[in-house]
Amino acid sequence: MNYLLYNAFVVNEGKYFKGGLCLKDGIIESVFEEKGETAEREMPCAAGYSPIDLQGACILPGVIDSHVHFRQPGLTHKGDIASESAAALRGGVTSFMDMPNTQPQTLSQRLLAEKYEAAAGTSLVNYSFYMGCSEDNMEEVLKTDPRSVCGIKLFLGSSTGNMLVRNPRYIDLLFREAPTLIAAHCEDEATITENMTEYKEKYGENAPFDVHALIRSREACFRASSFATELARKHQTRFHLLHISTEKELELLDHELISGEICCNYLWFSQEDYKKKTWRIKCNPAIKTPHDRASLQQAVKTGKFTVSTDHAPHTLEEKQKPYFSCPSGAPGIQHSLPMMLELVHQKVFTLPQAVQAMCHRPAQLYRIERRGFLREGYAADLAIVKPDEPWTVERSDIAYKCGWSPLEGERLHGKVWMTFVNGNLVYGDGRIVLPGYRGERLRFL
Ligand SMILES: [Zn+2]
Repeated sequence: MNYLLYNAFVVNEGKYFKGGLCLKDGIIESVFEEKGETAEREMPCAAGYSPIDLQGACILPGVIDSHVHFRQPGLTHKGDIASESAAALRGGVTSFMDMPNTQPQTLSQRLLAEKYEAAAGTSLVNYSFYMGCSEDNMEEVLKTDPRSVCGIKLFLGSSTGNMLVRNPRYIDLLFREAPTLIAAHCEDEATITENMTEYKEKYGENAPFDVHALIRSREACFRASSFATELARKHQTRFHLLHISTEKELELLDHELISGEICCNYLWFSQEDYKKKTWRIKCNPAIKTPHDRASLQQAVKTGKFTVSTDHAPHTLEEKQKPYFSCPSGAPGIQHSLPMMLELVHQKVFTLPQAVQAMCHRPAQLYRIERRGFLREGYAADLAIVKPDEPWTVERSDIAYKCGWSPLEGERLHGKVWMTFVNGNLVYGDGRIVLPGYRGERLRFL
């Protein structure tokens, strides 16, 4: 179906204006400005297009979440591509890039191809999957096709699935030879192990959750992040530093090929929230000080960073364990855009700055073909939002398979009203209206 979206505010590339879009055959055919009381007949498209009066809502490019863990294959009791892509859709996210720490881990081209096949059959939004690294799959990693795979994920710091890579010779070779972007989780394992021993001795199994930021400390982050960015500079590698949690790491990104990601939880919570939110916000890296959070919020305004979720669901049963047995990670993809809209409502940053971080910047850094912008000839991936509309996150509205969110009970201003994927209205008014729709595989330049 072709659509005429009008009476809206178009938010794109730093601009905000009254207007709309014509969508034809899955593509943005035109972006137009409405001056005064524009009659429908004066719009660039009319006959053969279904008109939708957006009543003053905002049209944003669909969000591109470049860091998720949908848990398929092997960990599908926590989440799967069907369930978590449905949650994405509800959050205005039209493309995701999924990490390799599944079971089995994505360590061969064959296993990577199987993930793409699974997504083609089940994903409601567009998708890409990272190739994973262990210390003995270099040959497979180097076969990664940069035109059809988003990147290579490197764990310099252990987390769910234990894919930690330690061998410095392997890491050096990887940075030298990588055929595409390397995205890395950076936390120094030796520092963490040392801190963990200390707090285990002090508290036993029942340590309070606020030790998390002391165990997975600021120093642990900086040590691993500076090691990785130094290698990227040495070998001129395209490198993306994932989930930056401290102010000091921001200094490391002073090279055109080196970029950084900030996840919503680090813009929202601080380590002071561990007392109240406990297991709900136990994630790796740990959430740091209010000062770090303020610096990360400022960093978003520069337009250089991607904002994503690190959506990492675990079941309630798994999470509600004592500190040392509680797995790290929290779901987030349904709520990342509403969180950013709330921060816009609080005037932490502007709506065009949020769009830059969640849509334009991931498209640029990952070199995604024809997505991430409201431009003629680009795929019609759109999030239609009502900024400032108040609502409360309730458990009954949560689409994650794990059924919970660290935001439960929070009052937000800004709601996702409709989501278009490749020109198809797939989600609207709280319902998935095209449940049989399947997204497309992302392509890269
Ligand atoms: Zn992650």
